[in-house]
Amino acid sequence: MKKLALHWQILLGMVLGVVFALLMNQFEWGATFIAKWIKPFGNIFINALKLIAVPLILASLIKGVSDLKDISKLSKMGGKTIGTYLITTVIAVCIGLALVNIIKPGHSISEETRAQLVENYKSDADSRIAQAEKQKQAGPLQALEDIVPSNIFQAASDNGNMLQVIFFAIFFGIGLILIPEEQAKPVKDFFDGFNEVILKLIDIIMLAAPYGVFALLAALVVEAPSADLFKALGWYAFSVVLGLAIMMIVYSLIVYLFTKKTPKFFFNGISPAQLLAFSTSSSAATLPLTMERVEEHLGVDEEVASFVLPIGATINMDGTSLYQAIAAVFIAQAFGIELSLGAQLGIIATATLSSIGSAAVPGAGMVMLVIVLAQAGIPEAGLALIFAVDRPLDMCRTTVNITGDAAVSMLVANSEGRLHDPKVKDWDDNYKTN
Ligand code: ASP
Repeated sequence: MKKLALHWQILLGMVLGVVFALLMNQFEWGATFIAKWIKPFGNIFINALKLIAVPLILASLIKGVSDLKDISKLSKMGGKTIGTYLITTVIAVCIGLALVNIIKPGHSISEETRAQLVENYKSDADSRIAQAEKQKQAGPLQALEDIVPSNIFQAASDNGNMLQVIFFAIFFGIGLILIPEEQAKPVKDFFDGFNEVILKLIDIIMLAAPYGVFALLAALVVEAPSADLFKALGWYAFSVVLGLAIMMIVYSLIVYLFTKKTPKFFFNGISPAQLLAFSTSSSAATLPLTMERVEEHLGVDEEVASFVLPIGATINMDGTSLYQAIAAVFIAQAFGIELSLGAQLGIIATATLSSIGSAAVPGAGMVMLVIVLAQAGIPEAGLALIFAVDRPLDMCRTTVNITGDAAVSMLVANSEGRLHDPKVKDWDDNYKTN
């Protein structure tokens, strides 16, 4: 029998988790059984995801920054590329924030369910409140001061500050670019290998995902056995998908505005890569096809594509940043936490940074969401809330991620005078040969 693809396994885990919990709810001891014997496995799964977050940021950011080595040769192109990537990412986060504030998916949760959610995660909430109190005493430059760690191990430790880890990784990466090649090489090789190991660990953790999801969903159902939670999740997923669809329109518009290539041309050219991104949930796995489509079908010069796209796959994740913004605010809404304007502006910064730090593999965006949550003082336990619908959303956001890379590569090529007529015009014919 053919093995079921992971996303189906996860879907199955979800459904079985819900069914199992509903069955157990029929027994008096059912809820206790799930809390004592099932939920811990869900917690282990979440812990494993959180465990991987710090090494993941270190490895992928150091690698990402030091890969910009060519910046000396291609400094102009590098500046343009990174600048455009940043702009599209910030646009994506803003769209996400606007949507989640308009649709308010978390508000459809009833007071009763909310009280239960808060009760379940009370200890976590308590420590957050204490932190928030401390924040209130701080001066206006405190946030800036906090970015620079005085001790990297403290920054990386349990209640550490993820932004500080990001700062260190970027700083380290810059140092790596600036030292002579022969000294940089072993360090770079080390981090390349380190990065590979981390990606493998994520693979392994993802193997446990169907079981983790089963446990998380079962616990979720018995803890908050209300339909309104599921309704809220539906609205949350809708907000993300709507935001992603808007991003697709934004791309086709900017491509048209700057290069005069029609949306039909753009989507025809890139769609096979989009399909692959959707089914693998990995920008990295899709990269070879993205490059081929962009060069052969969108007419981007090879030198531009091979510079812009790999960087894009690592640092430009518009779909991921949009999703992180919506997810963070949704969790806050679900827990009844009011986010001030300042906190939402902070989310623009952290979602941008953490999407840059997300590895181009399945589920990375959700791992990095921890940063956005921690920084905004939103309970990290809320991850359990959104995990149930994460995989399908991952598939959608990855599709947007690679589409954004392709759009930016066209803009950069155009501005360098290196956007040509594509070699192969007939999409259908060539697609058959792929
Ligand atoms: N899976 C996404 C990607 O590879 C990253 C994420 O989890 O958002 O682009």
